[in-house]
Amino acid sequence: GERLPAVAVDGDLIPVQAFTSTDPGEGKKKLVVLGTGWGGMSFLKQIDTRQYDVKIISPRNYFVFTPLLPSVTNGTVEARSIAEPVRRMLSSTGKQVDFYESECVNIDAVNKKLLCRDASNVRVKGKEDFEVDYDYLIVAVGAMSNTFGTEGVKEYCHFLKELEDAEKIRESVVDCFETACLPHLSDEERKRMLSFVIVGGGPTGVEFAAELYDLVSEDLASLYPSVKDLVTVTVIQSGDHILNTFDHRISKFAEEKFQRDGVTVKTNCRVLKVNEKDVLVKEKATGQEVHVPFGMAVWSTGIGTRPVLTKFMKTIGQTDRRVLATDEWLRVKGCKDVWAVGDCATIEQRKVVDDIAYLFEKADIDKSGTLEIEEFQRTMEKARERYPQLEVYLQRQKFRHVVDMVKISPGDAKEKAMHLNVDEFKKSLAQVDKQLKLFPATAQVAAQQGAYLAACFNALPKKDYKPEGPERIRGEGRHRFRQFQYRHMGQFAPLGSEQCGAELPGDWVSIGRSTQWLWYSVYASSVSLFNL
Ligand code: FAD
Ligand code: MG
Ligand code: MG
Ligand code: MG
Ligand code: MG
Repeated sequence: GERLPAVAVDGDLIPVQAFTSTDPGEGKKKLVVLGTGWGGMSFLKQIDTRQYDVKIISPRNYFVFTPLLPSVTNGTVEARSIAEPVRRMLSSTGKQVDFYESECVNIDAVNKKLLCRDASNVRVKGKEDFEVDYDYLIVAVGAMSNTFGTEGVKEYCHFLKELEDAEKIRESVVDCFETACLPHLSDEERKRMLSFVIVGGGPTGVEFAAELYDLVSEDLASLYPSVKDLVTVTVIQSGDHILNTFDHRISKFAEEKFQRDGVTVKTNCRVLKVNEKDVLVKEKATGQEVHVPFGMAVWSTGIGTRPVLTKFMKTIGQTDRRVLATDEWLRVKGCKDVWAVGDCATIEQRKVVDDIAYLFEKADIDKSGTLEIEEFQRTMEKARERYPQLEVYLQRQKFRHVVDMVKISPGDAKEKAMHLNVDEFKKSLAQVDKQLKLFPATAQVAAQQGAYLAACFNALPKKDYKPEGPERIRGEGRHRFRQFQYRHMGQFAPLGSEQCGAELPGDWVSIGRSTQWLWYSVYASSVSLFNL
């Protein structure tokens, strides 16, 4: 069933829903959300505005259903059909929320003040900037396309991050075809004009390449018969394979499909520089540098930090970091009353190995100095909530096997299996932290984090909490909720021609025609914010 965040009451976890909400009236805490993307809007959808005075600040007054953004580039999906106005979403929930269309340019966590800038084109002179106070701040500003400092990217490449990007790409593809048809061009110029280059072989780059291939080989080929044979699509990838975060079967399927279609995949290539008419690429194996001419290039190599957060991170001692670090309750480390969700943040998870002594003490109920199998099992059952890596580990290793692994001498096996001392206990759990995984920068994660955080906030004023667990022993700041737990709904790689690869929970991999609909249904039922 659904796993709601829980409130710890006398050491027991009670689901948040068990509390009914009351309106505290005046004196509501001021809660400010930055961002109207997946993280921000899913938080807003859930938050109880009777309990908080909620404001949302974002330069974008609409939400974008990003999984369909690549389809806007080839016209299969209309831009407006994947954008939903924030005000309409808010009014449909009947919630009392203020929205300011502006960009937060400074976060002052000491004085709890935000500096904001009007993001519209019709600013009032001298009144561009204003301040907003908060009691609680939710940072959900997402990330930016990352150029990794590569020269020429900003000037000559398209990004695929915002709705306008997708529309510009679409126009630009058509422009390339029209220009290629002009009578005075040389063959070489025509060929360059119809060379489409995608830098980055991750899901976005690959999906875009596949969509583009469909567009140029189907629709545009019939409209521009004289130049259709000059079209090339090239994907440049720095690693060994495209889609290298996916199951290798999907990665292979994608590479084979591209090969059949005639989409060139250049793996192990690093882009050194982007010029006006070509990208300069270094082939890692040979060290050779080659120029790949383009009519249009799309840069899709990963995400980076927004300047407002880089600045903020310096003020809270999070230097030398690429993303904002939070704890497992999504609290930003190094300051108070600030939370962060989605692409702009990453969770630093607690290691089991750091809490071994505590876990052992808890487990050894009879204080015998050793753990019997039942004690061990009981502890693992309790601890899997606190340490999600344990959950993954225990799914793979049955308890017995965990215990078996610490057999010391073969003759002694049975005896050892039944009694673990603290060192053996430690040894049995030594591998657990290897299961720690960073959450991917996806809509699924952002939406689940937003919903989780709202549920915690909704329950926050209800109950006092009692320190429990390793944090109490170390005297650290306490939380009263179960930490954020991610439910992976699978990942999905559309590959054009209605083909795609999907990874579903439980190591299922599905490749082929029907996969898209299978995946969309899983996806839509779990995280979608509005009906498509
Ligand atoms: P975003 O959704 O990016 O929202 C950030 C918000 O903050 C925006 O409203 C922005 O305007 C606002 N903002 C920016 N700066 C400021 C500021 N200074 N002050 C206030 N507000 C600010 N994920 C999937 O799970 N499945 C997919 O199929 C998928 N496909 C994708 C396809 C493309 C082309 C792209 C670009 C992404 C895709 N993703 C997909 C990833 C997914 O979109 C992101 O992980 C998700 O949007 C992250 O949500 P977020 O709330 O952190 O950030
Ligand atoms: Mg957001
Ligand atoms: Mg606007
Ligand atoms: Mg994140
Ligand atoms: Mg014991």
